[in-house]
Amino acid sequence: MGYKSIAIDGPSGAGKSTLARKVAQAMGYLYVDTGAIYRTLGLAALRRKVDPENGEAVIPLLDQVSIDLRHGADGLQHMYLDGEDVSAAIREPEVSRYASGVSAIPEVRAFLMEMQRDLARRNNVVMDGRDIGTVVLPQADVKIFLTARAEDRARRRYEELRERGSEVDYQTVLKDLLARDEKDTHRAAAPLRQAAGAVVLDTTGKNLEESFRLVLDAVEKGVGA
Ligand code: C5P
Repeated sequence: MGYKSIAIDGPSGAGKSTLARKVAQAMGYLYVDTGAIYRTLGLAALRRKVDPENGEAVIPLLDQVSIDLRHGADGLQHMYLDGEDVSAAIREPEVSRYASGVSAIPEVRAFLMEMQRDLARRNNVVMDGRDIGTVVLPQADVKIFLTARAEDRARRRYEELRERGSEVDYQTVLKDLLARDEKDTHRAAAPLRQAAGAVVLDTTGKNLEESFRLVLDAVEKGVGA
């Protein structure tokens, strides 16, 4: 039998990356954060002053820059842009907007999809994103749609950014998050939506441990562990 794959999709700030990482650790699977791949291309656009909404300007970047994803001995995913480790730089709020912009371009999605599928071909994976269960890995063994109320999601994102030392305020984070939800849900190319057969999990009002149990239960049921 081939490798197992767990797809976790949902809007920003639902806790996907934290929970997916923990589940991957518990299962001994590789965690793949696909948002980080879009963020890396977003960072390339930002650095080169390329308008992320302009497909004609962004598409040539795909040939000009090199984007690599490597897992360290610690199991953590690192992103490289032209050989430079940009894992921290891609977390800046400005990069989020650029990532959301470039990810709406169909050629960008097609180009970056192969990288994602290839990882799932060679490893047991827990992969999180927006279109993993719908487009990238529609045959995933378990598909989860993870969501929470916007205010909860903004609160989490805000705390995460503050912890990293970013000078952000809550209202701006909430506004950015709602704008990204709107864009990610309504774009023509691979919009954020529930995959057929997805288990919907809502983490509103739940702490990390409670949310983790919820996701791990669904995963264990799905893979028959
Ligand atoms: O998950 P994260 O916030 O890091 O993703 C950044 C942006 O990348 C999202 O707002 C979304 O536009 C895009 N994305 C995507 N498809 C994925 C993962 C992320 O379009 N599978």
